[in-house]
Amino acid sequence: MDYQNILERIQAEVRPLLGLGKVATYIPELSKVSPHHFGMAVYCLDGRRFAVGDADEKFSTQSVTKLFALALAFEREGDAIWKRVGREPSGNPFNSLTQLEYERGVPRNPFINAGALVINDILAQRFVQADIAVLQFMRQLADQPKIEFDRAVALSEQKHAHRNNAIAHLMKDFGNLHNPVDTVIDSYCRQCAISMSCMELAQAGSFLANHGTIPWSGQRILDSSSAKRLNAVMLTCGTYDVAGDFAFRVGLPAKSGVGGGILAIVPGELAVCVWSPGLDTAGNSLAGVMALELFTTMTARSIF
Ligand code: GLU
Repeated sequence: MDYQNILERIQAEVRPLLGLGKVATYIPELSKVSPHHFGMAVYCLDGRRFAVGDADEKFSTQSVTKLFALALAFEREGDAIWKRVGREPSGNPFNSLTQLEYERGVPRNPFINAGALVINDILAQRFVQADIAVLQFMRQLADQPKIEFDRAVALSEQKHAHRNNAIAHLMKDFGNLHNPVDTVIDSYCRQCAISMSCMELAQAGSFLANHGTIPWSGQRILDSSSAKRLNAVMLTCGTYDVAGDFAFRVGLPAKSGVGGGILAIVPGELAVCVWSPGLDTAGNSLAGVMALELFTTMTARSIF
């Protein structure tokens, strides 16, 4: 498959969309990023890489890190994590509080903010600092020891984290948060502020396309059943409250973030990451979703 040619055709097709979406502003530091960026990278299990546009430029990974935090917690704790977080789509915005009240502090899934805070809390019981554990895990998976937090983004989010604080306090009240709220919020904000490029994220995600084993080192992160389960949660919950529409249009397990990145998995073959900071009304990258839709249409590589 000539992925380079396909990526170049996709880049040309989505160009009219760049600038149409809205860059996230509720984290003020993110609003400084131009909506005109577009990058896309493919990392194949045989080590081939393909890239277009800003594929090597670092951006704020935000909720894409929720996938790696979940993988790390799942690797350490196994199925015990599902006692504290569900695995159903929420059908509500990622930062909603409403379901938490009647579901007694147990978040619907690990990809909404409530669920990611619980995962961070679980990691904080295993590691000295959960955010550093996630950072080191992502460095290892991407084979890039220099991946770092963007401290300005972390601070910007910490200052405006009223809603996440409310979610954390509600869960604390229900007994589903064991560490102090401030510890979990600060760690979560730093985790979300990890900066990476499309190529780094595609390489980092490739173990999920390879039944849980890092393709380039042979190191097993998850067994194949656990990797299948993570892919399933990505498919059903990974793209905010429009995961159904994303499955309809793209047909791949994926995790998106408000920084405009989307990491998608083609099981058995490759990981693909796209970045364009202009978001649609659900919070997914507008050009990014279109690019992935074109990718599965042109390659016939959806899981369906
Ligand atoms: N740090 C962001 C928040 O908690 C992540 C949101 C996202 O990318 O979905 O609001």
